[in-house]
Amino acid sequence: MRKKIVAGNWKMNNTIDEGLQLTSEIASMVVDEVANDAIVVLAPPYIHLTKVKQLIGTTKNMYLSAQNCNEQASGAYTGEISVPMLVSVGAEYVILGHSERREYFNENNKQLAAKVDACLANGLTPIFCCGESLETREGGDFIAFVCQQIKESLFHLSKEDFSKIVIAYEPIWAIGTGMTASSDQAQEMHAALRGYIAEQYGNDIADNTSILYGGSCKPDNAAELFACSDVDGGLIGGASLKSRDFVDIVKSF
Ligand code: PEP
Repeated sequence: MRKKIVAGNWKMNNTIDEGLQLTSEIASMVVDEVANDAIVVLAPPYIHLTKVKQLIGTTKNMYLSAQNCNEQASGAYTGEISVPMLVSVGAEYVILGHSERREYFNENNKQLAAKVDACLANGLTPIFCCGESLETREGGDFIAFVCQQIKESLFHLSKEDFSKIVIAYEPIWAIGTGMTASSDQAQEMHAALRGYIAEQYGNDIADNTSILYGGSCKPDNAAELFACSDVDGGLIGGASLKSRDFVDIVKSF
């Protein structure tokens, strides 16, 4: 059975005090209110990781993620953070290939493949983001485009390694815009990705791969999106900064 996951990507938001306040609120609401078996992942900025981990503690079904990593294990890469460093502060997941990383920091599929390898070699679970621009969608070849992202960054993996990956489909035109993909649009892409994964790795692995939707997911649209048979949860940006909204999304399965 594939996992249901809701991950909050805080991006470059929140001072340490604000981040710890948000974490405390989310953790106590998760304990008091969440009755389903969803996994909740918080992805704060790097400098918050250690303290957020301490606050999450052993809260059931709550995990810690980074928003990025460097593919090198160590060395002269000023300003960068390696996977062993993330593991050493208790991170379990890392978001890779977010469209903002691709756009502003020129990350490409090949470099992301190296980051994926570094994570898997150190036991960190990649939440691998993919998604098309509005221009690509309007051009009509959006499914082929997103499949190519997956192929170039993930299809070198063995079956065993691929089975550890979480995928997040995030249409760029829906990120932070308030323009959510319709449930039909999300389901169409998620089903296509699962089919493509099945061609490469077989039905068992495809059926067990969690594919999250991201892009203006909010409490009022999460239930409809999560009800789609191939949508296994969400990667949440803006709404993950408000504890009430984020936990309401977690409760939407
Ligand atoms: C994101 O950045 O991953 C995201 C989904 O953002 P938002 O929810 O704000 O659209």
